[in-house]
Formats: sequence, structure tokens, C-alpha cells
Amino acid sequence: MKDELDKQLCEKYPKIFKNRRGSMQETCMCWGFEHDDGWYSIVDSLCAAIQNHVDNLRYEHREMSQEAFDEEHQVVAAQVKEKFGGLRFYVDGGDDWVRGAISMAEVMSYRTCEVCGAAGKTRGTGWVRTTCDEHSKPTQPE
Ligand SMILES: [Zn+2]
Repeated sequence: MKDELDKQLCEKYPKIFKNRRGSMQETCMCWGFEHDDGWYSIVDSLCAAIQNHVDNLRYEHREMSQEAFDEEHQVVAAQVKEKFGGLRFYVDGGDDWVRGAISMAEVMSYRTCEVCGAAGKTRGTGWVRTTCDEHSKPTQPE
């Protein structure tokens, strides 16, 4: 994904993407978002839902320090990538609700062009990709 969108996600969800600049020995997030720009909106929506869920939990755990709460309840992205035409969003932490939200985002990715975000479908054998009609055409020389 292009740097500008990568940066936007990290700025909007600093707690989820706190390992974005981590070392490669520690986290796969050092590779960034290993998918194309068309899924930005899916990842953005998923992170909004997850952070909102975590922030709501904070009310139930008012007695905890922020540090202890984050340690126990904050969801942190471990790897975000494309695989077999679909989004994979791996996290550390998270409950059943979070796992459900991630499943929904993965389902959406199979219906969304990875290049532009338009309605798409999964195509290809071997190298599988999810694209719209326009982006499923072979690239023409300029
Ligand atoms: Zn497209």
C-alpha cells in the first residue's frame, strides 16, 4: 500500500499499529500493509470498529491503570497482508468480538478490488487475486 495511506492508518490507530516501525526480529508489521490500496477502506473500518470496542471495554475496567489496561486489552496488529486473494489481519490480543470483526473484514476483501476498492471478485488459478473487471484486464503497454 502506498506510504500516504500507510501513514494515515498509523496516525488514526496508533495503539493498533504501535509495532509498525518495530524491528523485523520482533514483528511482521515492519513490512507494512502487504496489500494494495483498494483495501484501505476495509482496514480503516475494521480498525475503527476494533479500537471503539477496546475503548468501550475501558469503562468496565476503570480501576485499571491505562498501562495495565493496554497490556491486557489493547489489540495490536501483528501482520496485515494479502493471501490467496483475501485480506489477512493477524493480531495479538482480542476477544471473540474482535475475531468476528476480522472475519467480516476478510469476507469483504474477497468482494472488493484490491487495486481500486470497487466491487470485485476473486479470479485466477495459481496466482489468485481479487479485482474488479477493469483491473482484471492484462496490463496494456502505454
Ligand atoms: Zn479495480
